[in-house]
Amino acid sequence: MSQTATAEPKHSDHRTPYRVRHDTRRRRLVVQDVRKLTPHMTRVTLGGDELAGFVSLGFDDHIKLFFPEVASDERDVNGEPKPVSRDYTPRRYDAAANILEIDFALHEAGPATQWAEQARPGDVLNIGGPRGSLVIPTGFDWHLLIGDDTALPAIGRRLAELPRNARAVVLAEVDTAADEIPFEHAADASITWVHRNGAEIGSPHRLAEALRALELPRGDYYAWVACESLTAKALRTQLVERGANPKWLRAAGYWRRGAAAVHDTYND
Ligand SMILES: Cc1cc2nc3c(=O)[nH]c(=O)nc-3n(C[C@H](O)[C@H](O)[C@H](O)COP(=O)(O)OP(=O)(O)OC[C@H]3O[C@@H](n4cnc5c(N)ncnc54)[C@H](O)[C@@H]3O)c2cc1C
Repeated sequence: MSQTATAEPKHSDHRTPYRVRHDTRRRRLVVQDVRKLTPHMTRVTLGGDELAGFVSLGFDDHIKLFFPEVASDERDVNGEPKPVSRDYTPRRYDAAANILEIDFALHEAGPATQWAEQARPGDVLNIGGPRGSLVIPTGFDWHLLIGDDTALPAIGRRLAELPRNARAVVLAEVDTAADEIPFEHAADASITWVHRNGAEIGSPHRLAEALRALELPRGDYYAWVACESLTAKALRTQLVERGANPKWLRAAGYWRRGAAAVHDTYND
């Protein structure tokens, strides 16, 4: 995949995020391995000739997974049915081994979850993207990462990509201790897990209360939030009220209660 650099800063500002656009193409990939990481998280490893040249520069990049076998109500500009798709994070791409890992948070229903629960080696999955990457520099005094199960792939990737001893504060919501992911990283990370203990996922109060109770270190930080959409919005509001710099704050709804295939972003 060729890259078209768009706005890479030429000055010495090590804190301004920049975007890199990629030429997108569809890839027909083949499942190599399926592994249950926790009771609510399945890792699918994809490979195949068409993976060659895959590029993902940002830890919260997303690719589209296509599920053509699912009937679609949506039409494209030609009036043809649009294939059903869902957004997922490229959790780890290993060019040498030619593999791409995707972690699926399992919930009650939906074509992506259903596909992941039934995936077996040899199955085919079509993906598209990422269309672009937002590269968030690492030169902050510390990094704040907040999310629910759907954000764990991006959080895990960011932690793995942060330089040794970079300071990170993580707030992550999962069902129980059995759902906690043992992230691999060299950063100086303090991770707080919030447990639902069987309560419904997507209630804003749990992460909001946990954030309120969190003492934020001094210094400049980049805050990244991804979870249920209204929760992400509430967390962003709280962070701004507590003095977070809106330029260094990214909050996204990775899903919304009662709606399929949502990607909301909350900016100023
Ligand atoms: C940029 C981006 C990156 C993402 N990366 C990942 C990732 O790496 N791993 C990952 O697991 N998810 C990720 N997500 C979230 C994922 O795309 C959604 O959860 C998606 O809706 C799942 O599709 P589905 O077909 O299973 O359910 P859908 O058909 O979309 O939804 C069916 C129903 O389930 C509800 N629902 C959707 N997701 C959840 C959930 N997680 N928990 C409980 N209820 C839910 C919906 O509200 C709806 O009522 C990402 C989303 C975005 C926008």
